[in-house]
Amino acid sequence: MERQRAPKVVIIGGGISGLAAANDPVVFEATNSIGGVWKHCSYRSTRLQTPRPDYEFSDYPWKNREDPSFPTHNEIVEYLHGYATHFNLWRLIRLESKVTEVRFLGDRQKAGFTELWGEEGRAVPSQPIWEIGVVTGTLETVQWYKCDFVVMCIGKYGDIAKMPVFPYGKGPEIFQGKVMHSMDYCKLDENSASKLMTGKKVVVVGYKKSAIDLALECAEANKGPDGQPCTMVIRTLHWTVPSYSIWGLPFFLFYSTRFSQFLHPRPNQGLMRSLTCHLLTPMKRGVSKFIESYLAWKLPLDKYGLRPDHPFDEDYASCQMAILPDNFFTEADQGRIRFEKSSKWWFWEKGVVLDDGTKLEADVVFLATGFDGKKKLKSVLPEPFCGLLEDLNGVMPLYRGTIHPLIPHMAFVGYIESVSNLHSAELRSKWLARLLEEKFKLPSVEDMYGQANREIEVMKQTTRFYRRHCISTFSINHSDEICEEMGWESWRKNNWISEAFSPYNNQDYKE
Ligand SMILES: Cc1cc2nc3c(=O)[nH]c(=O)nc-3n(C[C@H](O)[C@H](O)[C@H](O)COP(=O)(O)OP(=O)(O)OC[C@H]3O[C@@H](n4cnc5c(N)ncnc54)[C@H](O)[C@@H]3O)c2cc1C
Repeated sequence: MERQRAPKVVIIGGGISGLAAANDPVVFEATNSIGGVWKHCSYRSTRLQTPRPDYEFSDYPWKNREDPSFPTHNEIVEYLHGYATHFNLWRLIRLESKVTEVRFLGDRQKAGFTELWGEEGRAVPSQPIWEIGVVTGTLETVQWYKCDFVVMCIGKYGDIAKMPVFPYGKGPEIFQGKVMHSMDYCKLDENSASKLMTGKKVVVVGYKKSAIDLALECAEANKGPDGQPCTMVIRTLHWTVPSYSIWGLPFFLFYSTRFSQFLHPRPNQGLMRSLTCHLLTPMKRGVSKFIESYLAWKLPLDKYGLRPDHPFDEDYASCQMAILPDNFFTEADQGRIRFEKSSKWWFWEKGVVLDDGTKLEADVVFLATGFDGKKKLKSVLPEPFCGLLEDLNGVMPLYRGTIHPLIPHMAFVGYIESVSNLHSAELRSKWLARLLEEKFKLPSVEDMYGQANREIEVMKQTTRFYRRHCISTFSINHSDEICEEMGWESWRKNNWISEAFSPYNNQDYKE
């Protein structure tokens, strides 16, 4: 069957995923700017943690590519503006256009729950199948747009906070001070942020990147004579890394080359490879221990009781490795940042109570407790699709990290993570563009589920934090499979030595 017309594609979200996917569709962005988390969910001190050359579009290199510093969030937004201007994307982007609802116009019996995805396995239906409700600017009316294909790029972070649950009567309502989620702190201007922290007893709940940056901002605001310490309340410790150099060796050698990823399990590996992988387990553990030994030597982890119980590998495999800001432990040594470990905590009138009964006084409690990306998706997707987002493992099954086998004519970009999310988003967008051009067909729904489940099994085998849906230990294999499906060469270096020992980044997937 010949396609009669160009498909009408709508992208929801103007962060890096939405921009990477933008080819010729309409992009609806809820806020007044592109950039996503880098514009609306960053503190003054937030910097990229991925090295600059790994976080760039393959066809738009950073001007200062060789600059070893990590770009600030403002630099990233500027870079994205440059990209949108260079490729004339502004004509496609509708700012201040929030998608409030997505309706399915197709026949559910025929579309989702069949042997083939979508209409006979084709990415583009014969007639519009989705209707998108958009509220623009300050207007209260919803405008409806029909389209053939929707690309969901609304992001895993930001917009909807993950809030801790408290026993009845021990929640924030009894606390006399101020409680704020890290997401709301991002919205404050410099003056208000500093006023909120200076001379105040602050508790920061959490120990991931947002919590670490927040504690540091708090310590810096309290350097004066009236300064008060900031206390971090930590449930789960994670490994933090001061730089991308371990005992003098570049970090990429440990996880980002074909040779290093050979040690880790991957989906679709045969019996021989599974056996080899099993035999190489001590070497894999050795790499993790080697990095842990460096971190314990370089950072005062034992002094502050901050050495995690789980191996470094598991944080890396779940994309949770945070780069530590330079002066974090200097502030701790000066007493401006303190640490308390507690598996549970709740409020009292003057602060928070830890599981051993310790009462911490606080004027302000920051919840750096993360975001609920699935809830965000559920808030716009219609039934029955919003009920299909998680499998029994609590992970969204996505074929090639992009297609949900039971949600037809829709793709998700930005939901699986890797060391560079820009890299993951761009390659998947290239694959998606070819799918929409019908250059290849998707396998059956059952086969797509099979592939997604095998990936989830590998993640479960690799890390207890598998729900974060991160492919960092088998990212090259993931890209290989995508390339093969697009009809591209999967081994993309000039020679065997580079193929084995140099890292893969976006430049390797240049068209
Ligand atoms: C503090 C922090 C540090 C990070 N550091 C790194 C790092 O070093 N390296 C790395 O690779 N990744 C990092 N990440 C992950 C980061 O989220 C990704 O790199 C990337 O920016 C995600 O882009 P996205 O487009 O998928 O989502 P987002 O950036 O969240 O963009 C989603 C966009 O969708 C819009 N939107 C949401 N709902 C709607 C709606 N209903 N209608 C219309 N528009 C909507 C939002 O306004 C937003 O602009 C970090 C994240 C955070 C929060």
